[in-house]
Amino acid sequence: MTRNHWFRSAAVLSAIALTMAGVGLGRARPLGAQSQGPANEFNDSHFHLTNYVQQGIDVPAFLGIMANRVSRSTLFGIPLQQQWSYANSGDYAPTYYLQSDAPLYYYSFTDAHVASAYLKLTPAQRARLDPMITGFNPADMYGVDHVRRVLTTFPGVFTGIGEFSIHKEFVSAKIAGETASLTNPALDRILAFAAEAGLVVILHNDLDMPFAKPDAEPVYLTQVKALLKRHPKTTIIWAHVGLGRIVHPVRVSAAAAERNPSQLELVVAMLTDPALAHVSFDISWDEVAKYAIATPDSITRVAGVLNQYPDRFLFGTDTVAPAGPAPYYAVFDMWAPVWRLLTPEASLKVRKGNYERIFDEGRRRVRAWEAANVK
Ligand SMILES: [Zn+2]
Repeated sequence: MTRNHWFRSAAVLSAIALTMAGVGLGRARPLGAQSQGPANEFNDSHFHLTNYVQQGIDVPAFLGIMANRVSRSTLFGIPLQQQWSYANSGDYAPTYYLQSDAPLYYYSFTDAHVASAYLKLTPAQRARLDPMITGFNPADMYGVDHVRRVLTTFPGVFTGIGEFSIHKEFVSAKIAGETASLTNPALDRILAFAAEAGLVVILHNDLDMPFAKPDAEPVYLTQVKALLKRHPKTTIIWAHVGLGRIVHPVRVSAAAAERNPSQLELVVAMLTDPALAHVSFDISWDEVAKYAIATPDSITRVAGVLNQYPDRFLFGTDTVAPAGPAPYYAVFDMWAPVWRLLTPEASLKVRKGNYERIFDEGRRRVRAWEAANVK
């Protein structure tokens, strides 16, 4: 048992939640469920229309997948393009960053692609989507100028910036040019402009290095907290709660539990820090869902934190150009054991309410900035 170092009040709350499970989202749904789930079940705070070679599905196809089960969604591509280097992989055309040793580069046209697709939609379709700007280099002092230029070129379209990455396992090191850093003033310029224009920020930053040793302080924790605290007026969503495919939740051995906090305790420490009140977390990515539902104990602990801080978490799928409803909805359905333990209030906020609050405010503020700045 690990009861000593897991967050105690979370366990108490989860016990309360357990007794309320019958009134939560306790529906079982068969694996590979389709879009004919309950209407308006969730909003998707993290969705990629295209992949690492800028291929994917078109927006009408995505609206078809959303059908009436998903009310609203973010909309972004992937800012990085995997080069097809003939010298490296010959006739093999890589579509993912792990499939080639060739570098990735910033593909800024992604923003024009998303904007033109959005502008072809009807007003009713547009109202369901929040396009995001991603095609900027966060290691370039000029990166912020790209963001401003996209807003002035396509007014009325974008709600925020991201998902963009600073530290991401395998990816950061592959990007051509200077490696991004949490201490680079180029990033501060971008986050400062996001505050000025009201842009919602979705930031990917692994909390730790891949295969980190148990009991070690997560390497990027200090830097990421300092960065977030430098930008108290920027609305920031930290993607995946800082986790990655092989950036595991921070683990502590029983012997070290008194000294070192676990992943959930690190998150709770951030949630209770008044200097980080502008930061929310998305629980997107099936890799994150895997950690959350790994054991009955993890399910209870995660549900406990969501119930205690229901205003600070957003559900997202982090699916990339899904081929159809089955792979798209599989991520939401993975969370079923956690949904069952949430209070109705927490469940509604994580699935929908926080999205509406944050992205509605982003829309309102960005439109106001455009009205004042776009001639
Ligand atoms: Zn993503």
